[in-house]
Amino acid sequence: MDSQFEPEQDFDNYYDGDTVTINGFIFCGRHGQEVCDKCPTDNRNCNNSTVEQMLHEKLTEEEFETKWKGDDREPFNVTRQWTRLSNGKPGCMAHKEVACKECFNWGDKLYRSIHGGRKPRVSRLHKKDKQNKDVLH
Ligand SMILES: [Zn+2]
Ligand SMILES: [Zn+2]
Repeated sequence: MDSQFEPEQDFDNYYDGDTVTINGFIFCGRHGQEVCDKCPTDNRNCNNSTVEQMLHEKLTEEEFETKWKGDDREPFNVTRQWTRLSNGKPGCMAHKEVACKECFNWGDKLYRSIHGGRKPRVSRLHKKDKQNKDVLH
């Protein structure tokens, strides 16, 4: 086959048997683990390098320093969450979409895991304030 007809390689979304890269994050191809003791592999360092800049910009300095665990963070896994689509690319099982914004938005997931934890506490506080005021009236 003439090389000019080959599709442009998308290195953020491809499967080569040993590894599957989904929206820029690398997992082992056999188990869909970011950190796998069977293969064995640990892709957190490599994967973090693609989102660390964004996290540093979006999080406060304090959050980044104290809550971002870097290469020690909880690993992701895509076990049974991805499938090979008809074009050979890995996509999400739920929507059959390559680089699905809903399933594989790693940067957003990490951001929310650090930043989103506060919200419930705040809303509970508000409720408490309201109750206290009601009691006072
Ligand atoms: Zn594995
Ligand atoms: Zn999806």
